[in-house]
Amino acid sequence: MSNETVSFEVYALKYATRDAQGSEHFYGHDIHDYPMPMDYFVWAAVSSQHTVVVDSGFTAEVAERRGREHLRCPAESLRQLGVDCARVSCVILTHLHYDHVGNLDKFPGATFLVQDEEMAFWTGRYAGREHFRNIVEVQDIVQLVRENFKGRVRFGNGSQEVVPGITVHRVGGHAAGLQVVGVHTAKGNVVLASDAAHFYANIEEDRPFSVVTDLRQMYEAFDVVRALADSPEHVVPGHDPEVMKRYPPARPELEGIAVRIA
Ligand SMILES: [Zn+2]
Repeated sequence: MSNETVSFEVYALKYATRDAQGSEHFYGHDIHDYPMPMDYFVWAAVSSQHTVVVDSGFTAEVAERRGREHLRCPAESLRQLGVDCARVSCVILTHLHYDHVGNLDKFPGATFLVQDEEMAFWTGRYAGREHFRNIVEVQDIVQLVRENFKGRVRFGNGSQEVVPGITVHRVGGHAAGLQVVGVHTAKGNVVLASDAAHFYANIEEDRPFSVVTDLRQMYEAFDVVRALADSPEHVVPGHDPEVMKRYPPARPELEGIAVRIA
């Protein structure tokens, strides 16, 4: 046994997209409007010993209802990458918004890791209020409650190691119990920021996203992500189409489907 921290390969898999305007993506709105499309991702961290999936995307049915362009099932993209979803033992759910926690049935052998505060929020007092209820699918929350009663939900409270080389950190801000994921790679410490930074512009320009649970925590989340990442280039935003351009395809045949972050 060596004492070296296990290094993971990290992949981002794009499964959906939509046209949007810049003014939609910043708190307080942007004065100038310009096209700023949004991509939707899941992520995978793979080592010789562990495969950890981060988030599970939404289904084609949800995409249709919400007017999103569903490109492919994230589970199918993971399969193309070589990840057998039926054998994945850990899925980190960064938060419970509709675009992050569909398709849980595609991971029959997994435990789902969620922050205490996120589950409490969506089963609590404010979940049904208009601006909150619109950003989740009730069926997803109900399913996660059911999985909990089967012993398949693992709760986090703050920062913790998931497996050696992977950590989660509660940041809040965009969602009450939003967590980001730190991954040790051969290229240094990468942070899968998920919706702590939807776009590079949010964190690089210190401009919060438009959907807010706690604005102070959203700014704090920027600080936490910056502190965890080895450099700004080690931060992977949750929805920026630029991710597919900055990194190479995981394999030539996965062009436009999956990129290798590290
Ligand atoms: Zn999102």
